[in-house]
Amino acid sequence: KPRLVEDEDGGVIFLSSSYSSSSSGYGYVSIEKQRQRLPVYKYRTAILYLVESHATTIVVGETGSGKTTQIPQFLKEAGWADSGRVIACTQPRRLAVQAVASRVAEEMGVKLGEEVGYTIRFEDISNPDLTRIKFLTDGVLLREMMDDPLLTKYSVIMVDEAHERSISTDIVLGLLKKIQKRRPELRLIISSATIEAKSMSNFFLSSKRRQALEGEELRPRLEPAILSVEVFSLGRGFNVQIHYVEDPVRDYVQAAVSTVLLINDKEPPGDILVFLTGQDDIDAAIKLLTEEARSNGKNSSGLIILPLYSGLTRAEQDLIFSPTPKGKRKVVISTNIAETSLTLEGIVYVVDSGFSKQRFYNPISDIENLVVAPISKASARQRAGRAGRLRPGMCYRLYTEEYFLNEMSVQGIPEIQRSNLVSCVIQLKALGIDNILGFDWPASPSPESMIRALEVLFSLGVLDDDAKLTSPVGFQVAEIPLEPMIAKMILSSNELGCSDEIITIAAVLSIQSIWFSARGAQKELDEAKLRFAAAEGDHVTFLNIYKGFLQSGRSSKWCHKNFINYHAMKKVMEIREQLKRIALRLGIVLKSCETDMQLVRKAVTAGFFANACRLEAYSHGGMYKTIRGSQEVYIHPSSVLFRVNPKCVIYHSLVSTDRQYMRNVISIDPSWLTEVAPHFYQQQRHNPTIH
Ligand code: ADP
Ligand code: MG
Repeated sequence: KPRLVEDEDGGVIFLSSSYSSSSSGYGYVSIEKQRQRLPVYKYRTAILYLVESHATTIVVGETGSGKTTQIPQFLKEAGWADSGRVIACTQPRRLAVQAVASRVAEEMGVKLGEEVGYTIRFEDISNPDLTRIKFLTDGVLLREMMDDPLLTKYSVIMVDEAHERSISTDIVLGLLKKIQKRRPELRLIISSATIEAKSMSNFFLSSKRRQALEGEELRPRLEPAILSVEVFSLGRGFNVQIHYVEDPVRDYVQAAVSTVLLINDKEPPGDILVFLTGQDDIDAAIKLLTEEARSNGKNSSGLIILPLYSGLTRAEQDLIFSPTPKGKRKVVISTNIAETSLTLEGIVYVVDSGFSKQRFYNPISDIENLVVAPISKASARQRAGRAGRLRPGMCYRLYTEEYFLNEMSVQGIPEIQRSNLVSCVIQLKALGIDNILGFDWPASPSPESMIRALEVLFSLGVLDDDAKLTSPVGFQVAEIPLEPMIAKMILSSNELGCSDEIITIAAVLSIQSIWFSARGAQKELDEAKLRFAAAEGDHVTFLNIYKGFLQSGRSSKWCHKNFINYHAMKKVMEIREQLKRIALRLGIVLKSCETDMQLVRKAVTAGFFANACRLEAYSHGGMYKTIRGSQEVYIHPSSVLFRVNPKCVIYHSLVSTDRQYMRNVISIDPSWLTEVAPHFYQQQRHNPTIH
């Protein structure tokens, strides 16, 4: 039985217990039995009591303790989804939404999309009449607020993975706090693997209440409760032995592969989970591991090597969750999605590169990019913890102990403090939050970033002089579920008469890559690219590929031959259909500009003028500088304009490794910049020469 411990401040409740390791016996166990074995099960009554009696309940529990899959079911069993109400559970990641929803549907024995459903951007597997438990990304919940500002259909909203502090989670938390004032019957559950529960709890106490509480007697009902289900914490339950490298490694992909092979040679059975950073290094590691395992002989023949990153198909996801056959060893090579969002059974060994892909934004240079950056100690502990679910495990850290102890930061920085805020600002504006600097943030973004965002939105014609959404452009841009620059590009294409092409481009840009990753076959991939390459740049190249795909009759064979990812192309078609529908709703009639690519380039410029760069030097691999911020950038080798180096280009995004690289680049005429964004390019004190 859980023990309720009233915190001395009152209202804050910790539940403590030690976990009895009843599992570890594998084999066929009924789903009901499996559910009862989860640590969270013991807290069922306590959780339901807290939710009943508190506006906000904070649940802290180790990954795999059953928070995400069980709590929504508890709530439903207790009647929170009766009379048409819906229980919502948000996740920062799309793949987690899909995986968790399908698991819960399976546990409840219902068809996914009926009683249990999910919604992610461009994919709604839910039914407004039937769905009682709905999983969704926090981004989608934000979108839903535009149509239903008080989220009236939800009785309980569980904001999951709050420790991740994703930008949408933080915005959602700020807004839910407002909604709570208007809807006292709404219940919130904030759940996370590691949280400074106290600071979250303080956030949900309004400052007025905080003051009142210092004087008046307590009114616990309005206070958030903290429920702690600390079970699998490191050092308790199953121990995880940590190994460090003695000297810093130069190539973490190579080091990870060697470590996996070493484990496979020396250690008893048990699956291996490797943390790398993204699709590119994961694919590289898989290729290397496959080759080395093959040359290693029969010892490595029992390896089942699987990637885990967003954009996997359903079948690929299923492989990851399916039990490892006897005599085999699964090696899952993952992004940090497996850090806390998804639990894989059977992991005994963890290999931690010490890195993840993180977003960084510099408001001075106005540059945001994805950087492979060191993780925090908190993340490192989480990663190691993945090894201790079944039995004592081992974690191999590909960094030195000295580095871990002395250099690794304790905690990550909330995403909102390292992001470009353009999307965030427009969403808050669309929800009628006018004083954005004064908004009640769990962590405040920097005023510089905020000002930058306002300036870009003003230049896009989305905000007026009073920083209010313009009509109709501002409202239309807010309506399109894509970043404002893409939305503006789509709206401009309507005026220019190339909406058909631009919608295709927007669809392609919203997925990671349409190319089949071809490590080792780089030459063949480059040749395939040349077949479609357009002198104007990547955006126009996408149009050629799309045309080719249609002409082939959407053939997977054709994709294979051309190093194009068939699943990605199918996704592009789906997204394109949805964008078409949204466009129609906004009164945009699809129109093709046939061969006039200048119109397409102009439409791209109308959205992405802020990303314009001018060629500075042909030598040194073609150095560019951003026109606004004079930052040094280079064309990414994956671009069809790599080595072509047109005078003036616009990029879609930046990635940073040894240099800042522009991904998805199109050449433009610099005179268009002052045409589409006079404010942005002319009214500066130091007017940059752009001709
Ligand atoms: P938490 O949210 O606390 O991290 P979850 O509710 O996600 O925990 O997971 C609880 C348990 O459910 C996990 O230990 C795992 O065994 C099981 N589980 C979750 N998702 C799946 C899945 N897709 N397939 C199989 N088992 C799963
Ligand atoms: Mg979870």
